[in-house]
Amino acid sequence: MTTAEPKIAIRNVSFDYVSEKKAFPALQNVSLEIREGEFICLLGASGCGKSTLLSLLNGLQRPRSGEITLNGKPVKGPGIDRAVVFQQYSLFPWLTVKGNVLFGIRQSGKKYSRKEREDLAHRYVEQVGLTAAADRYPSQLSGGMKQRVAVARALALESEVLLLDEPFGAIDPKLRLELQELVSRLCVEHRRTVVFVTHDLDEAILLADRIVVMAPGRIRNTLPVSLPHPRVREELIRTEEYEKLHRQLIMAFYDQVEETIDAGVAL
Ligand code: ADP
Ligand code: MG
Repeated sequence: MTTAEPKIAIRNVSFDYVSEKKAFPALQNVSLEIREGEFICLLGASGCGKSTLLSLLNGLQRPRSGEITLNGKPVKGPGIDRAVVFQQYSLFPWLTVKGNVLFGIRQSGKKYSRKEREDLAHRYVEQVGLTAAADRYPSQLSGGMKQRVAVARALALESEVLLLDEPFGAIDPKLRLELQELVSRLCVEHRRTVVFVTHDLDEAILLADRIVVMAPGRIRNTLPVSLPHPRVREELIRTEEYEKLHRQLIMAFYDQVEETIDAGVAL
């Protein structure tokens, strides 16, 4: 996008978790602008505040100070303009694979006929390679299959923004590679604006247009990834840019080993 208005703007956002009259700062003065169609990977060690930032973007929680806007308007709560995929599969157990995807389509609020909804569900199920399992229930699926359904359902919502929190964290390495390439391809195809949380360096390089490295409570630095999409891992890992990015990211992690955020302060 060439216009000046960012799709998402995070401006000086701070957030505390409060318990027993103490405030534990989780984010301090975080600012980030995300362009339309951009794929952002939030990368950082456990406890940095990645999930917190995602829940603020989703509107489940509100900043203590600062502001988050989507299309120039403040985010005040969850909305169908933002689809979320959590680390734990959040499928409806009483719906089949197709039923879960149909749910996403209904949520999109678009006025489809029954036939159009069915066709769309069929297409999304096909795109994640689950046509043969379309009538199965979540309890009859492997972890990787469930996660594919969650991705298909989120895409079916046809929201402008996709928020994914370590969606492949619990998936075995081979399937993980497949799902990464799938998400990369589908998000480019569907031109979604994506914020994808991960602690996996390779995953970030494969997927992101920009990698945002977090240190506890703040953004440490951002690294643009100029490799063209779609990216194929076997080709990617032979490029000089991949090696350079990998080195930079490893150094970013080494540098922050000693860093921790302030302890809780009494209110
Ligand atoms: P990440 O996703 O990067 O692992 P989180 O956003 O989950 O990090 O957490 C950031 C910080 O906030 C951590 O120190 C974590 O312990 C703390 N935290 C997260 N959720 C809560 C909560 N519900 N109550 C209190 N502290 C929390
Ligand atoms: Mg997290």
